Amino acid sequence: MLRTTIKEILNHIGEEVEVCGWVNSRRDMGKIIFIDLRDRSGLLQIVITPAIGKFYELAKNLRSEFVVKIKGLIKERAAKAANPKISTGKIEMEAKEIKILNESETLPFEIDKDTKKIGEEVRFKYRYLDLRSERMRDNLILRHKVIEFLRNFFCEKDFIEIETPVLTKGTPEGAREFIVPSRLHDGKFYVLPQSPQQFKQLLMVAGLEKYFQVARCFRDEDQRGDRQPEFTQLDLEMSFVNEDDIISLVEGALIKMAETLFPNKKILKKPFPRLTYAEAMEKYKSDKPDLRKNKDNHDELAFCWLTDFPLFEYSETEKKLVSAHHPFTKPKEEDLELLNSPLSPFSKEGGKGDLSRVRACAYDIVLNGCEIGGGSIRIHKKDLQNKIFEILGLSKREIQERFGHMLEAFKYGAPPHGGIALGLDRLIMLLAGEESIREVIAFPKTGDARDLMMGSPSEIPEKQLKEAHIKVD
Ligand code: ASP
Repeated sequence: MLRTTIKEILNHIGEEVEVCGWVNSRRDMGKIIFIDLRDRSGLLQIVITPAIGKFYELAKNLRSEFVVKIKGLIKERAAKAANPKISTGKIEMEAKEIKILNESETLPFEIDKDTKKIGEEVRFKYRYLDLRSERMRDNLILRHKVIEFLRNFFCEKDFIEIETPVLTKGTPEGAREFIVPSRLHDGKFYVLPQSPQQFKQLLMVAGLEKYFQVARCFRDEDQRGDRQPEFTQLDLEMSFVNEDDIISLVEGALIKMAETLFPNKKILKKPFPRLTYAEAMEKYKSDKPDLRKNKDNHDELAFCWLTDFPLFEYSETEKKLVSAHHPFTKPKEEDLELLNSPLSPFSKEGGKGDLSRVRACAYDIVLNGCEIGGGSIRIHKKDLQNKIFEILGLSKREIQERFGHMLEAFKYGAPPHGGIALGLDRLIMLLAGEESIREVIAFPKTGDARDLMMGSPSEIPEKQLKEAHIKVD
């Protein structure tokens, strides 16, 4: 007999079916044993009476989290026995046969209550148990639905999903990179991508025109705030577009997703307000303004776009000019003139050559005071790209070594292109009404980048180190 899931049970009243799952709780009322059986889709009450003989004897051993298979008759409950709290509250199963598929020790913490109050050290060590709790399971299902929706949306718009490498070379997006030693090439390293930026641009050079990917990105940063060393982006790129095209496309996707999947939430303003960086800084003193009426209301969705970011900024830590977004971002046509004979880093007098006034064809999308994505129209001409690298202080040799492949690609008919990446963890966190992205990632790392369940990072055997040409100091 094929196993029936609990959410399907309501279609089987009066029939005998087989269910599988975990013992969520057990109550004994005189001789009768009541089990709440749990599977991914819900809870079902099971009634076990001495009439089933040896199976009843077996049932006496059942404890929380035992895994069982139970065959029985689905019956309507007496009206006064109904439980309106669960979807199957009007029915129950009268058990006929029981099989214990596995036993369970007492769990290190209770999972039939919200696990939020339990320390993260324990929750992360036993993440597979934490994920059995209702809230965490629902968060993962919600995550799946958001990604599924967006994936389908972009597929319908004729985008194609393309995977890009994880073992690659550095891409300058401001963060430190994870490095991977090469065994075959002594003394050489791969790095893990901070984003698929260069590959997606090269896919445009390749003539693919509309690309997207649910992409894992890696940044080896000191763990400030709610960050993870690896996170997921919905990354996309298109050819022959301007800023408006990308903004309208993504806005359309977010509105349709929110209205379809979260009918109880309200999008505050449609179309989303657009502010220039200068306006936002003046009005809200922030480039991530929270435009909600009630800042504590998770059901208000206040999206807004920020545009016209500066192309460069001065990094106090590096004591030099850096790209505000990344160096592939196109300057505004009207500001190109300012790139000629630049005064470096920023001129006090302003005027011609004042790089602080160069604006970028870059945009960010903000939701409830959180940046949930950003992108830009890219440079697609070799000379302009080269000039930007020079302004950023890279030598001819550095440009060639790090970005020669991009400049070369731009020689062969690179189309104008642009794109954006949405930070899925943050977007999903806000939609789930959670305070941390760790609540919507199946296996997150701690604030100091450890995986307590697997025990990573970890030491590795000497032999493996040797093969990778590594000596630990
Ligand atoms: N690669 C950029 C980022 O990760 C996004 C983009 O420009 O499309 O922020």
